[in-house]
Amino acid sequence: MAKFVFVTGGVVSALGKGIASASLGNLLKARGLSVILQKFDPYLNVDPGTMSPFQHGEVFVLDDGAECDLDLGHYERFTDTNLSQINNLTSGRVYETILAKERKGEYLGRTVQVIPHVTDEIKRRIVLSAQENPDVDVIITEIGGTVGDIESLPFLEAIRQFRLEQPMLDTASVHLTLVPYIKAAGEIKTKPTQHSVRELRSIGIQPDFLMCRADHAIGDEARRKIALFCNLPYENVFDGRDVESIYQVPLNLHEQHFDRLLCERLGLETTEPDLAAWERMVSVIVNPPDTVRIAIVGKYIELKDAYKSIIESFIHAGIPNHVGVEQVWVDSESLEGDEVGDRKLREVFADCHGILVPGGFGDRGIPGKVNAIRYARENKVPFFGICLGLQCAMMEMGRDLVGLEMAGSAEFDATTPHPVIHLMESQKGVTQKGGTMRLGAYPCRIKPNSRAYHCYGGLETSERHRHRYEVNNSYREAFEQAGVVFSGVSPDGELVEMLELPVHPFFLAVQFHPELKSRPHRPHPLFREFVAAAVAHQELQREQTRQQRLQTETKADKPADTPPARSQDTAAG
Ligand code: GLN
Repeated sequence: MAKFVFVTGGVVSALGKGIASASLGNLLKARGLSVILQKFDPYLNVDPGTMSPFQHGEVFVLDDGAECDLDLGHYERFTDTNLSQINNLTSGRVYETILAKERKGEYLGRTVQVIPHVTDEIKRRIVLSAQENPDVDVIITEIGGTVGDIESLPFLEAIRQFRLEQPMLDTASVHLTLVPYIKAAGEIKTKPTQHSVRELRSIGIQPDFLMCRADHAIGDEARRKIALFCNLPYENVFDGRDVESIYQVPLNLHEQHFDRLLCERLGLETTEPDLAAWERMVSVIVNPPDTVRIAIVGKYIELKDAYKSIIESFIHAGIPNHVGVEQVWVDSESLEGDEVGDRKLREVFADCHGILVPGGFGDRGIPGKVNAIRYARENKVPFFGICLGLQCAMMEMGRDLVGLEMAGSAEFDATTPHPVIHLMESQKGVTQKGGTMRLGAYPCRIKPNSRAYHCYGGLETSERHRHRYEVNNSYREAFEQAGVVFSGVSPDGELVEMLELPVHPFFLAVQFHPELKSRPHRPHPLFREFVAAAVAHQELQREQTRQQRLQTETKADKPADTPPARSQDTAAG
């Protein structure tokens, strides 16, 4: 029988509940337990798939095609497990299920109500994962939103009932709060935490553990005060101070024995975890020996959460390359318009060692992305395109390499004379928006001896997708003649999954989303090799600067009419 941990948050949102939950999952797994994490979100969308990235950050996609909250990305990365549709629930999904049953007459004669029907459905979903994975030891359920929100009440009520119905040792409640530092008073304040716990207790949930998020040390005295007022043992109040890297959070919690105390609370016998490898990884992340800069040309750059998995993938890819990857955010719209000539592009990308064009939807910012790709291709700057990035690369190369004037994508221009990107056959006739794209993991056949083959080290892979448009096969031959290699295709050869330019140091684009599968210990091979190419590009730039400096120094040292020294020839030879 699995044990159940519930993670709630109070005072404010964005406290990092997702990272905290993922970190607990990581530690329990390191103690030898099998763990599944899930997220219950109180909003009414059936899933986040229809929301703008500005609203909700990135939409994370699972192998089974579920469009999920980005916290599922953290769960997968921290616990190195693949989750499924049942691990993300929203109020919208709960109501969808209940209303479908109601229409079928399953509640015939009764009034359908929040209690018991909505709460029963939530309780059914709490245990569903455990039922489908009988070997799992712990299910950690994070509740989105903040305690006190109207929307989250049914979820908290369901947890209250669930805890009451289970044996004491089978459930635990973890609550995250904010302990602010008041500058004028020069001290931290525990009152918001006290209020948040009071709110939670008024719903009937006494937290077993408190994680206090703060940007200052909380100190013993405050911890004791919080413990006393919030009705829990002092050891169960944790200092959740800001750290440099999210991957330090498990180490920080372990130092305070959170994992041991949680296991004891749940009556789970486990051994101390060996975190040495994780510690080594974190030390490279926090103190990389060198740095490369990669430009990300996107249109949601004001909200970095829109590119969460890409950011994490770069952190992972930096580890084997012994570098930190600094992201240079470039608004694609700033790269369009008449005044954008080579000089402007050179200015923007001067200090960058690689250019990434990520996924996206809609026509805003497309010309800027195409300009960035042209710059990368012509100047031999490593380029990596993801999803829309591949589609823009097709447009750019169609226009400049293949000679297809105004080559375009049917997504932005239905009348383009050369739709090198068009709607997938399977998408024609699709009118519903939610969950109808080509979603989830699909196999991909890799061309022998291509760059992709060298990155993956094999002829097959499986990657996650989220798109409606694809490369138009009627143009494939023309592109191949112009030097483009379609190095990844679906098993039947019909869908282009990867393309590359062999004449370029690194010019590779993919229709899928490799960022969704990168893990800290297993960086995605394409990100890893893209960063390696950026390192090589930086080395080349440094070498060029060294040579230039040497030349100016020799010129300055040398009297104007002295013949070149022989010793230089021998040294070079
Ligand atoms: N908008 C494009 C499509 O639907 C690309 C999608 C993406 O980048 N995720 O095919």
